[in-house]
Amino acid sequence: MPFASAAQESNTAPRTARPGTASASTVPCKVCGAMAQRSFHRTGKRQLLLEASFKPADYKRPYYRCPKCDLLFHTGFDNLTPEEEAQTKLPGINNKTKEIVNRGVRETLMTANLMQMFKLPLRSKILVFGCGAGLSFNMMLDNKLNAYATDLSVQFQKTAKRYGAEHFNHALLPEMLRRFRPFDSVAEQSMDLVTLTEVFEHFPNPVEMMQRIAATVRPGGLVIGTTGWVDRVKEPLHDWWYLRCLSHCTFLSSKAFQRICRACGCLGVLLPGSPMITGQTGISDTQTVFVMQKPL
Ligand SMILES: [Zn+2]
Repeated sequence: MPFASAAQESNTAPRTARPGTASASTVPCKVCGAMAQRSFHRTGKRQLLLEASFKPADYKRPYYRCPKCDLLFHTGFDNLTPEEEAQTKLPGINNKTKEIVNRGVRETLMTANLMQMFKLPLRSKILVFGCGAGLSFNMMLDNKLNAYATDLSVQFQKTAKRYGAEHFNHALLPEMLRRFRPFDSVAEQSMDLVTLTEVFEHFPNPVEMMQRIAATVRPGGLVIGTTGWVDRVKEPLHDWWYLRCLSHCTFLSSKAFQRICRACGCLGVLLPGSPMITGQTGISDTQTVFVMQKPL
């Protein structure tokens, strides 16, 4: 009986790609397209998973690892309605002050140091992508760098009062607002350098987003940033501290980075944290400084 055998087959066959479902055991890798295996689940024992409120009651977030490019990612933020997607965007303003200041200093130092290494002129146009509370943006302007900034919304107007004069020059607020740009309004090849501190890991569609960002940089310009570096994790991946931030969904590997660079038409290198680049700001062993350069 043909119908029975077809039904039997569908019950016993291994489950393959079903994007958007929590139960698929394999899904296409978000960077190279190879079939990535489900590696583990995480549940919201301590904190509710961000997407759990609009998923089935027994939802557990599935994480996948690509056998070809080593990318680690989860699919919890895929195929959401715009309203659901908005709920997954945690503004960085909930982070501890010390962490935010550290990131601001790190991004400012990293930008200034890499500009020198790659011989970008001092007045190069910089775009702080995902500026959040605006500390690095403020520090760059305070140090006469030609910085602009973008984010989903302006947060720094509200958050500025949390920071003392030693970290934030409040007189620069009008200039910061003048230099804030919705990302869609940033013209192609209009920037010399785009910086992303702890932003990449929030991209559910990493190749598309990095291509859009790289398009805003002129030939010879740089896209730089910091993010998690899954190749460097020694403990079981499930226990990696970087997964504790529930809005992180894409975890970079060296091979995935090479593919992203190719897709963006850039050269690139992943560097471990180093005082030469990030000063004494304490980047962990499982984070990287990435540098992409668009060839001249
Ligand atoms: Zn892959």
